[in-house]
Amino acid sequence: MVGKSTGGPMVEVSGLSGAAIRQYAESVFNVPEYRSIRATIDSGVKVDRFVELLGGRIMIDDTPRARLSVATRGDFVIRIPASSHPLYQRQLIAHELGHYFLHYLYPRRQGQLEACFTGTPEPAEIEANRYAMSLLVPTEDYRQASRDARKALEARASWNLVGSPPTPSDINYLAAIYLQVPFHMVEGILQLFPDMGGVDEV
Ligand SMILES: [Zn+2]
Repeated sequence: MVGKSTGGPMVEVSGLSGAAIRQYAESVFNVPEYRSIRATIDSGVKVDRFVELLGGRIMIDDTPRARLSVATRGDFVIRIPASSHPLYQRQLIAHELGHYFLHYLYPRRQGQLEACFTGTPEPAEIEANRYAMSLLVPTEDYRQASRDARKALEARASWNLVGSPPTPSDINYLAAIYLQVPFHMVEGILQLFPDMGGVDEV
């Protein structure tokens, strides 16, 4: 249903590979004005701040599905269902940013664009999801989170609260909490990009 429900212009796939999408998403962290959106000890990647810096606006309301409405470059609205869990809201915001970057800025489109979250395996949706995972679980921040998670879990083991050393899954689960993303996003990106390293490298 990408774009169809409003009669707006259709979303067209970027055709970028998964690795290229990840590189594109992570490239924002090298732009000085966006560096402040990086994950910190008390927060995951600050997607709401990123939207603001890009000139967009987030509306959390009674929309049944997340959607993106672009008026023009630097002027867009992302609507998010208030009924969604905040972790999932972050994922939806990042997904709609995926449409904005991959299907509007990257192809240098002009004029309006409408996209809505369908949760279906259409190519444009898969691209937006890959962008979202890459933005919310950037390589450097993931490595830091998994190092912190391992340290915390090893300390737990040494206090004899739990006898066994942490498994990679334990570490990734806690890293997902640190990054404020659903666990499946960490699992998903590691499946796509095992070279992200993390728990085996720390
Ligand atoms: Zn979508």
